[in-house]
Amino acid sequence: MLRIRAGVVFPVTAPPIEDGAVLVGADGRITAVGPNARVPTPGDVERLEFKDGVLTPGLVNAHTHLELTHLAGTNDEKDFVKWIGRVRSLKDETTPEQFQAAAERGLRDCWAHGITCIADTGSSGAAMQALVRFGGRGIVYQEVFGPSPTQVPASMADLEQQVLRMRRLATTQRRIGVSPHAPYTVCESLYRRVARYAQQERLPIALHLAESQEESELVRYGAGPFAEALRARGIAVEPHHCSPVQYLRDLGLLRPGTLAIHCVQVDAEDVAALKSSRAAVAHCPRSNRAHAHGVAPVGLLRQAGIPVGIGTDSVVSVPDLDLWSEARTAWFGAEEALRFLTLEGAKALDWDREIGSLEVGKAGDLAVFQHSPPHRLPPPPIALATVVAGRLVHRS
Ligand SMILES: [Zn+2]
Repeated sequence: MLRIRAGVVFPVTAPPIEDGAVLVGADGRITAVGPNARVPTPGDVERLEFKDGVLTPGLVNAHTHLELTHLAGTNDEKDFVKWIGRVRSLKDETTPEQFQAAAERGLRDCWAHGITCIADTGSSGAAMQALVRFGGRGIVYQEVFGPSPTQVPASMADLEQQVLRMRRLATTQRRIGVSPHAPYTVCESLYRRVARYAQQERLPIALHLAESQEESELVRYGAGPFAEALRARGIAVEPHHCSPVQYLRDLGLLRPGTLAIHCVQVDAEDVAALKSSRAAVAHCPRSNRAHAHGVAPVGLLRQAGIPVGIGTDSVVSVPDLDLWSEARTAWFGAEEALRFLTLEGAKALDWDREIGSLEVGKAGDLAVFQHSPPHRLPPPPIALATVVAGRLVHRS
């Protein structure tokens, strides 16, 4: 059991509580939230007190690639198509042990930033191993690539094998899904196969979608630098005469629970398609800015009632895993930021019955940040304490 008292508690689904406390039971679930005087203190409870602390639900990172943590600062390509190519060759040079060490460091970095739930996409399986080894919470989407139709059987065999391996490690705290990477790395027939497979296996999907103008050009016209790069590898490219969102909807990839990552290049029709598919969006403000993709229309997405979580993307694109900095880049107000980084993120991952706010019965996923006068939010990025399912995983 764990009891944390803080200068102010933000439950998110209720008003802030001055001098508040949260009690997490032995089952890792919240048993009481309220003013300190009203929260019980059982005899055998572990107690933490932060007089100047701001206690919030643990933050949700709606998109990251923890297996790439070791590549921070290694790719300064300005051109996005070349940048993607460079990431691919850096990954080819990485050993399984390096992926593992990177994912473990990434998970600890998340915890240091108050992040208690990750939605990770990766190809090595290392993020799942890290969650198992250290006891974290997250959903790990197994990536699959294959721009050429000739690669489809091998790509599917690899995906199925990896999913089988990860399934044995999955629990209610560690979920799995699949991620057909992006329209410039996945051909039409592979998309169809993955859609069918995900449906059969009841696996949620995450995919990079409508990120760059170059991607739109490839999908709509079969032209531009991605098309040229594919043709140079002997891969045929056809125009689809529609936007990336419409393309993937028509292929059956946009479904309830699909996490569409980025969604910068979207118009009103695309927003309507995302809405009617009941997909969710992972918004990555600093990554989009770093690659000069433009700004995702968060207002339009929210007006349509589409769940939007905030993701850092990988540290190859951004300097660190600071979600508060993402929210600042998206121009959110402080309390709005907190809501996006917690409850809205949980909704985007269809996990809000369990996490995202401080309520009795929900999982004891918490973060305590330093109070930074005169405003309590946003706080300095490094958490004083981070708790996953009632277990202290970070303290500074
Ligand atoms: Zn990404």
